[in-house]
Amino acid sequence: MIIGCHLSVSKGFEAMGKEALSIGANTFQFFTRNPRGGKAKEINKDDIEKLTKLMEENNFGKILAHAPYTLNPCSKDEKIRRFALSTMNDDLKRMEYIPNNLYNFHPGSHVGQGIEKGIELISLHLNKVLYEDMTTTVLLETMAGKGSEVGSKFEELKAIIDNTNLKDKMGVCLDTCHVFDAGYDIVDNLENVLDEFDRIIGLERLKAIHINDSMNYLGCHKDRHQKIGKGGIGIDAFERIINHPALKDLPYYLETPNEIDGYTEEIRLLRSLHRG
Ligand code: FE
Ligand code: FE
Ligand code: ZN
Repeated sequence: MIIGCHLSVSKGFEAMGKEALSIGANTFQFFTRNPRGGKAKEINKDDIEKLTKLMEENNFGKILAHAPYTLNPCSKDEKIRRFALSTMNDDLKRMEYIPNNLYNFHPGSHVGQGIEKGIELISLHLNKVLYEDMTTTVLLETMAGKGSEVGSKFEELKAIIDNTNLKDKMGVCLDTCHVFDAGYDIVDNLENVLDEFDRIIGLERLKAIHINDSMNYLGCHKDRHQKIGKGGIGIDAFERIINHPALKDLPYYLETPNEIDGYTEEIRLLRSLHRG
């Protein structure tokens, strides 16, 4: 099973690899820069090389870079859209130092302009930042639908991909807390939800899972993560999710409210429930 959690990038790349190993993980997620935006740290090639070696030696799965939360490609404000462009541009260039990995972002909030306008602006953004010879796969995260978030319906993600020129660079990251909060019943109707995902987007686009329980109930549109098994989704549903034939080989990233000890425990628990 490929599983890890969100780690702090502040100590460097090799340090994240070592920390992942120390908690029983074989992948991890990190923010490309301060989650609230700002400048990214200078790339240290030696540090990246050490991480690459560590990942090879320990059979790591793909690692997942997460864009800052403040990135909003479908803002009404042109300045914010321009910030999204320059940030993602820079992030995708830097990702090539660690080729063939994953980059996830929140599609954005349309802030009253309407879903259709939001989708149009997000695709426009992608058509400016994606480029032919990049090796990174860019993932749209499934959202809970709080406020004016775009991407809480599979149809919206599909429309963004449809309007993007370099579709082979695009995938989806399914966040279990978010889809549950968005109203997809992965607890009692996992099969139907996956059928729907396959019919609308295509399961071949699903590249990663954010594995989080939810503090709230199905369809609440809240987005409050909970520890695994302590929320509305529950441990039995997680056991079915991680063993589903369409999901069991994907990389899993925990974003639960935990310190490192809690993550270690959740990784151990999920590994114990995962069947080959
Ligand atoms: Fe996210
Ligand atoms: Fe997430
Ligand atoms: Zn969330």
